[in-house]
Amino acid sequence: MFEDKSQELTPISKLGEFGLIKHLTEHFSLSNASSEVGVGDDAAILSSENKKVVITTDILTEGVHFNLGYVPLKHLGYKAVVVNLSDIAAMNATPTQILVSLAVSNRFPVEALEEIYAGIHTACKKYNVDLVGGDTTSSNSGLVLSITAIGFENEDAIVKRTGAKPNDLLVVTGDLGGAYMGLQILEREHAVYLSNPNMQPEMEGYDYILEKQLKPEARTDIKNILKELDIKPTSMIDISDGLASEILHISDQSKVGFRLYEEKIPMDSLSISTADEMNLNPVMTALSGGEDYELLFTISPNDFDKIKNHPDFTIIGHAVEKEDGNFMVARGSNQLVALTAQGWDAFLNNQSN
Ligand code: ADP
Ligand code: MG
Repeated sequence: MFEDKSQELTPISKLGEFGLIKHLTEHFSLSNASSEVGVGDDAAILSSENKKVVITTDILTEGVHFNLGYVPLKHLGYKAVVVNLSDIAAMNATPTQILVSLAVSNRFPVEALEEIYAGIHTACKKYNVDLVGGDTTSSNSGLVLSITAIGFENEDAIVKRTGAKPNDLLVVTGDLGGAYMGLQILEREHAVYLSNPNMQPEMEGYDYILEKQLKPEARTDIKNILKELDIKPTSMIDISDGLASEILHISDQSKVGFRLYEEKIPMDSLSISTADEMNLNPVMTALSGGEDYELLFTISPNDFDKIKNHPDFTIIGHAVEKEDGNFMVARGSNQLVALTAQGWDAFLNNQSN
């Protein structure tokens, strides 16, 4: 995307490391009371007033986590922030600061980094998060982007993966599988482009799932919705790797099993029709697709009435004793299908075809 106008591009060496950092961060301002000192000193200073610090970090590597052939740099910056904010939201905490570190090869001009920081800036504004620091270095191959997110939260509000009890209800926000189907469309059209650069990509009509993949959102809104409903989840996780894998994480950490009802899994109609079009099983894309960044949590069965008709939530199953294992109850047949980290047993594929 930068090849066409190569004459106008600025090599990073022209600004130097310190000039570059200043150039990229000068549009950012601090808006949270907990951010005392941000970019510019040797370290940031944050203040927490008796709250716990919730902190998480993620590395994104070119060619492993993203493909610049079809991921715009601005979206990359935005998504890199969002995936970290999602982890803070999954602790039932509110993110307030990020640090951004990048390793970048000289194939990237300053303008490319401006695009990444434009995406980071948009995410900071949207989620009211302050950029308070980072690190910048060179790389011999490609781009590596590492983001750390921080939030401060009262200890009694924080939700871990460890608190689910048998009979708790299993609840998910939003709908699942869309991000994976968006990726399938991007990869399909990118392959077409590589084999014939004159072909126009056919992306029309896929907006919802493309957005789910390229510009996912972190469910930082859920904390307040739950508070208004007077519900504190017993355990919570965000869905980065697929529903099945996340259920198994809660199962492992809380020492319970789960029953997931296939017919309850919320999916958008475009995700389903696109899966059908590509000969994929739609439920498989929800179970093992990943990158949906919705929240998965358990609540006490006593809270059922508070949540049962809420548009943001779907009750998809319940916890059982650990010895009873993790199974999906298949649509129609009531057959039990073992949940695996890949999504499900190969067994079901045979049965459902
Ligand atoms: P040091 O050499 O002491 O590590 P740096 O020159 O790396 O300091 O960083 C100077 C300041 O700029 C610090 O506040 C640091 O957190 C911030 N910073 C460095 N790189 C980035 C970046 N890519 N994004 C945001 N802030 C950065
Ligand atoms: Mg440094």
